[in-house]
Parts: sequence; structure tokens; C-alpha cells
Amino acid sequence: MQSGPLPSAAPALMAPSAIVPSVDFNRDGVQHGFLRMPYSRDDSAWGSVMIPIAVIKNGDGPTALLTGANHGDEYEGPIALFDLARTVDPAEVTGRIIIVPAMNYPAFLAGTRTSPIDRGNLNRSFPGRPDGSPTAKIADYFTRYLLPLADVVLDFHSGGRTLDFVPFAAAHILPDKTQEERCFAAVEAFSAPYSNRMLEIDAVGMYDTTAEMMGKVFVTTELGGGGTARAETVAIARRGTRNLLKHFGILPGAPEKIATRWIDMPSDACFTFAESDGMVETCKDLGEPVTAGEIIARIHPTARTGLSPLEYKAAMSGILVARHFPGLVKAGDCLCVIGVLDAKAAAP
Ligand code: CA
Repeated sequence: MQSGPLPSAAPALMAPSAIVPSVDFNRDGVQHGFLRMPYSRDDSAWGSVMIPIAVIKNGDGPTALLTGANHGDEYEGPIALFDLARTVDPAEVTGRIIIVPAMNYPAFLAGTRTSPIDRGNLNRSFPGRPDGSPTAKIADYFTRYLLPLADVVLDFHSGGRTLDFVPFAAAHILPDKTQEERCFAAVEAFSAPYSNRMLEIDAVGMYDTTAEMMGKVFVTTELGGGGTARAETVAIARRGTRNLLKHFGILPGAPEKIATRWIDMPSDACFTFAESDGMVETCKDLGEPVTAGEIIARIHPTARTGLSPLEYKAAMSGILVARHFPGLVKAGDCLCVIGVLDAKAAAP
């Protein structure tokens, strides 16, 4: 560990957040309100961004913090969470549910992954700064004000406009094996068709990492993508949310479990990246088995006829868990992700 004086950024991190909640986190009942973030700009000198939040509380018990649209173009989370906030009966709740259906609200309103205000990618902005850009301020509010209230954290993702996934809930391999076990038990309770022991290519700055470092049970998802939601993936999100709340005793009853298939992502060989621009032909569909050495994608040059496509071969055997979504790709885009099905797949 490094010793000596703290970095100069530390005092600023201790400043209070300018974000003001209109809800009382300690009051019983249902409250629909806002996290009001001051945002002074040309069309509104003393204006604010009004981030919707709901708090449903009934007596003592665990707190669940549920979030969607951490990336603004992913919809299963917001659909399931606006729905839950409207329909959950506080009489059936033990403890507290804090719901922020659209975490990066400016990005959600714009239908884009990042914020149109500052191009901030919220899930690369943690732990955030109270004196930073609007996206950094949202991250800071979650880090210092909301995460400390939570016992369990569920953050919905899907592929957005540029990726598509087989539907899975996921947690990460963690240094604290007790915490890791509680996270994987929560993933299994969520009960998506696939459950993933997930490897991140870029974990620094993620909400996940911040929550996990605070010792929380953290569950995330990748439920589909393409910049929309499907009937199947929305149903998974709705059931999974209630299942997770049941698993922690916040809602009554047992989770409605389905047979989930566990996926491992053992190394960087899971990921294939485009090395040229062009038109993509994905040679396997989501969920299909792939064998190491097999062609999984071709990138076709588009400038003229008579040119051969570039072929991409699977670096490992498994199933296709994610693919690039739009028909055109650029060098550096993630083309495909392969996962390995766990032979001793957990089933109910
Ligand atoms: Ca995402």
C-alpha cells in the first residue's frame, strides 16, 4: 500500500454533493420523487436535471438499490423498474427498495449510451467527483450517498445500440470469496436463462467495481441489445427483479427459478475485436456452439468488388454470448464474445 499524503484530489471528493433528493430515505410508504442535480446552462440559468427516483419502505430490513439506464440506450431495466415502482405494494415489502430506473438520465432521454451533456460514460466515471461534470456528479452521488444505504445492488444492462447478448445475469470473480458466493447465489436467484461468472475488459471506473469494493452484493445483467428491448428480455427483467427481492426477503415468497446455464469467461480469448472497417457477417447466432479455430465472423470490404473478406476464427470453444449488432463495423469494435458453458450447470 502507498503511504504518505493523500492525492490532491481527495479534499474535493469530500465536498458535499450538489444533488438534492426530494425523497426521505427513512420514511415508510411509497415516494415518487427526484434526485435534482443543478445544471446551469444557456436555456435554463438556474436549471436542474430531474432524475426520477422511487423509495418503497416498510419497517426494518435489507435495502435493495435497483438501477437501469446506466447506459442510456438499454431498456429492459428502465421498463422493469418504472413498472416495479408503480406496482409494488409497500405492505408486502420488508425493508426498503430504492429504484432509479434511469441512472444516467440525460443519456436515457437522448437514447444514447453516453450523456449528451458531457459525453460521460457513467459506467466508466466511478467513483465520480462532486465538482466534476454532470456524469461524474451522478457517479459521486451513488458512491457516497446511495451505495452506503444498500445491502444488495442490481444494475441492469444490455448491449445498447452496438451489441446484442444472450440474456444473462452476472457477477464477478471477487477476492472476498464469502462476498463472491453471496453474489453468485443472488445471480442464481435472479434466474435468467444464462448466469455468467463475468470477466470485464475495462473494470476501472465501473459502478460494479465501486459497489463490490464496498462489500455489497452486486448483480448485473446483459439481457439483449440492439438499442431496444424484446418481450422475452423484458419478461426476464421483471421476473428477475422480483426474484432478487424475494431472495433477500424484501418481497415475500420464493424466487420463481428456471433452469439457468452457467457461463464462464476464463480469459481475454473470449473477446474478438475487428481489425478493419467494413460490413460484418456473423457466422454464428447467439447461443450457438463454436469450436476453436472455426470462422465466427467475416468482415467484407465495401469499397469495390473482387476483394476477399477478412475471416475471424474462434480463439476458444464455447457458445456465442455476444455479437456486434449494426451491420457495419469499425476497426476496434467488439465483434464477438465467446463464453464457456459450465458442464455442472446449476439448475433448480
Ligand atoms: Ca451496458
